Amino acid sequence: MAYRRVLLKLSGEVFGGGAVGVDPKVVASIARQVADVVRSGVQVAVVVGGGNFFRGAELQQGGMDRDRADYMGMLGTVMNCLALQDFCEKEGIATRVQTAIAMGQVAEPYIPRRAERHLEKGRLVIFGAGSGMPYFSTDTVAAQRALEIGAEVLLMGKQGTDGVYDADPRTTPGATKFDDLSYDEYLARDLKVADATAISMARDYKLPMVFFSLDTAGNIGRVVAGEKIGTTVHA
Ligand code: UDP
Repeated sequence: MAYRRVLLKLSGEVFGGGAVGVDPKVVASIARQVADVVRSGVQVAVVVGGGNFFRGAELQQGGMDRDRADYMGMLGTVMNCLALQDFCEKEGIATRVQTAIAMGQVAEPYIPRRAERHLEKGRLVIFGAGSGMPYFSTDTVAAQRALEIGAEVLLMGKQGTDGVYDADPRTTPGATKFDDLSYDEYLARDLKVADATAISMARDYKLPMVFFSLDTAGNIGRVVAGEKIGTTVHA
């Protein structure tokens, strides 16, 4: 394996298989892949998105206050965490969910040193509720958590796209995929696969990011083994 400790970001879209809510079949398949990686001895922490339930920006367009809408977004991520935890435990992997908003009945609070201890014991750690703060994205939280727990790489698992393109391939025929991209070029081109705050945080602390597709089974294992798939964003 190419890495000892990784932070995997799973977009909310992944959990819903493109629809609103959680698709148990899709989550079971992701859990199987994550469990295989954990069993191979790599320490894995996951940051879970929530776009399959609520995005603050969309609720704001519907007339809600942004900060309350963002809290709804963060609560949505926790449901995805519990679904992922459930299927990972069915795979026989010990897991802990830690949330940035306290909810003692369902999860531990976010305690980074305890998270590291879980990882050292071979447990999968799933981070939910974003940063606990409105106006952030779970991409930015993924960069922050990766840095705080000392992950060597931030793996950005995506649904419906297999990397970073120079334009949106769904709307721009002939859009070109990058194999490698610098943080500066990503920001200069104003690309939107992850938000600029996440990319600039990764740039400031030299955290490499790999964007790859979760639509092909086994890709999480491939990327953790160092196989060159998707797009790597680095210095
Ligand atoms: N969110 C937030 N603060 C955070 C992380 C997330 O307010 O630290 C809210 C925000 O409204 C966001 C929603 O939670 O739209 C769901 O997260 P995100 O859009 O990042 O999920 P993804 O796109 O990965 O599914």
